[in-house]
Amino acid sequence: MPEIFRPDILKGTRAIITGGGTGLGYGIADVMTRCGADVAIASRKTEPLAASAEKLAAAGTKVIAVPVNVRDRDAVQTMVDEVVDRLGGVDVLINNAAGNFYAPSADMSENGWRAVIETDLYGTFFCSQAAYPVMVQQGGGSIVSISMTLHYRGWPKMAHATAAKAGVDALTRTLALEWSADRIRVNAVAPGPIPTEGVKKAFGKGGAGIDDKMLSAVPMNRWGTPEDIGNMVTYLCSPAASWITGQIFVVDGGSSLTRM
Ligand code: NAP
Repeated sequence: MPEIFRPDILKGTRAIITGGGTGLGYGIADVMTRCGADVAIASRKTEPLAASAEKLAAAGTKVIAVPVNVRDRDAVQTMVDEVVDRLGGVDVLINNAAGNFYAPSADMSENGWRAVIETDLYGTFFCSQAAYPVMVQQGGGSIVSISMTLHYRGWPKMAHATAAKAGVDALTRTLALEWSADRIRVNAVAPGPIPTEGVKKAFGKGGAGIDDKMLSAVPMNRWGTPEDIGNMVTYLCSPAASWITGQIFVVDGGSSLTRM
């Protein structure tokens, strides 16, 4: 893949990427480490996380794997403390961890509803809150949350995830206003369809099918890649975006403009 950014554009940047061991999170970590960032990838499954950290370290920066369940506020605080201890600080937080599954709203269990809302929305809030004092003390920082576009029109059987990500969008704008005086920028990226293992699993169980029919509704006529999202996130964390806050950037090959 051609290098898009100067290889040292994120040199000296210490980033936390939740869910950074797989899919889009891994793609984000991959671009950021190749741009010089030290990175902590954080999620629940420690073994695959450690294997991903080892692969990412090939770029030559410091990469650590830190266990966390973002639904658990105390665990999030412990994770941030560990990152500060091992990387020396936190300049960037990428709220990428999420989970979802297809379920008709009429039958959705309270547990299922709660699991997705707590992971996607509470997790984003807990991680942002825990990173905030560290960033304030350092004189600023950048937070990027990974949203989606499906709530712009509605997406059947995804009431939990669409509601949670609408909350993430609202949180992005509100935190941007609250924290701009602390020189903390807060933005979001809303990806279109990218066939990660996580998405294939969710679509395989009662979803609309991530197939050629769906691909034909993507105006750019290709699926997105984790690197497409990694490039936008890296731009938002770089000095090039120093006057950008409170914005949600759609990266979807034009998909959200069509009736997918
Ligand atoms: P994925 O590979 O399933 O990624 C989800 C990640 O979140 C995993 O690494 C998982 O790791 C972590 N995670 C889940 N629950 C967690 C918890 N409670 N605590 C900590 N980590 C947790 O799926 P993906 O497609 O890359 O999705 C990444 C992000 O992109 C999500 O926010 C998703 O909503 C968004 N998105 C994706 C698409 C797409 O088409 N792929 C489109 C729009 C938006 P563990 O299992 O180890 O915890």
